[in-house]
Amino acid sequence: MEAFDLIVVGGGLVGSALAWGAQTAGANVVLLDEGDQAHRAARGNFGLVWLQGKGVGTPAYMQWSLHAGRIWPEFAARLSNAVSFDIGWRQPGGLQFCLSAAELDKRRDVIARTQADGGDIDISILDRADLRDLLPGIGGDVVGASFSSLDGHVNPLYLLRALQQGLQDAGGRYRPGFRVEHIDAERDGFKAVSRTGSVTGKRIALTAGLGAASLAPHVGLSMPVKPERGQIVVTERVKPFLPYATNCIRQTVEGTVLLGSSHEDRGFDDGTDVPTAAMLCRTAARVFPALAEATVVRSWGSLRVMTPDGRPIYEESTLFPGAFAVTCHSGVTLASVHALEIGPSLAKGRLPEHLSSFTSGRFDVHQG
Ligand SMILES: Cc1cc2nc3c(=O)[nH]c(=O)nc-3n(C[C@H](O)[C@H](O)[C@H](O)COP(=O)(O)OP(=O)(O)OC[C@H]3O[C@@H](n4cnc5c(N)ncnc54)[C@H](O)[C@@H]3O)c2cc1C
Repeated sequence: MEAFDLIVVGGGLVGSALAWGAQTAGANVVLLDEGDQAHRAARGNFGLVWLQGKGVGTPAYMQWSLHAGRIWPEFAARLSNAVSFDIGWRQPGGLQFCLSAAELDKRRDVIARTQADGGDIDISILDRADLRDLLPGIGGDVVGASFSSLDGHVNPLYLLRALQQGLQDAGGRYRPGFRVEHIDAERDGFKAVSRTGSVTGKRIALTAGLGAASLAPHVGLSMPVKPERGQIVVTERVKPFLPYATNCIRQTVEGTVLLGSSHEDRGFDDGTDVPTAAMLCRTAARVFPALAEATVVRSWGSLRVMTPDGRPIYEESTLFPGAFAVTCHSGVTLASVHALEIGPSLAKGRLPEHLSSFTSGRFDVHQG
């Protein structure tokens, strides 16, 4: 049986980025993915590479996210060279629209706190007149916006496909339909076992999103992730009108418009409901009144992968060295660092040292 250098369990955006990065750095990698019956945030997200406001109050996470944003252009260029299609990456800057003076004040506060935490990112406040110059179709309810040139967006499905194709073109293996039921620690590494077979490797990375919580204890790790539902509505294709990434409306390269996304505590229910879709449409029509004429063609729900504090977990097991936990709730934004830094680092058998504050030990309750 072939023994891999690295088994990656979970072929969402986190696992696929990491697997591609490790394979192209010289490791022999296998990426195992359960398939359609699993919850898969990578196939239901909004596609933003969003930096403004990320990590406010937690400087290490802010710096890591900003670094991810800065190296996204290099990542997109390398990935685009590896495959023959456009992943839809654009970095026109991002606007967070404010529909009241109170919301605009909150954005000012986010900027002040970003600067206080040492965040080196240009974010400015645009008033209504500035915005009208940029976007003539803007609605009368929009009082202003915050703008950052570091924000961008991408087609998340093409991104996922590019990572998985790039992995295989570089000699790595992708095994869909392989649900890992348990993991055995062996003398020289690990065995990932499904109902139909097993795979062995020197090291193993758990990137199974919501599926990682139950697998982590098999190798002495803790990944206490919970679902948070987000719904997205998509319209028919319309003429290009929005050349920026924004917090609630995104026009794709093809012309469709994504409206989203909600934040709901619904357990593992990834369905949709009309009141939420209506709320997303109402907000979009306040921001761009012309959107009220666009036909909605589809909506969907998908589950975010949330840690208790919303920050990533990067950890190597102390009981089973060589087993790693990797999870986060902004896997599009962080795909660049997962591919260009975490993957190559795991190819060498370790996590970057500067990520030591992201272990799950921070959730332990210490009794005084
Ligand atoms: C509505 C919504 C909007 C979002 N918008 C953005 C955004 O704009 N920008 C951004 O950066 N992020 C966004 N996200 C988050 C982003 O989608 C995720 O962070 C990203 O998809 C990475 O998730 P993941 O790889 O950890 O998990 P998933 O994508 O959920 O992948 C986990 C994978 O593990 C597999 N799996 C599970 N259990 C097992 C098992 N036992 N064995 C083998 N495989 C298993 C599943 O098949 C699945 O493919 C959004 C998420 C949602 C839901």
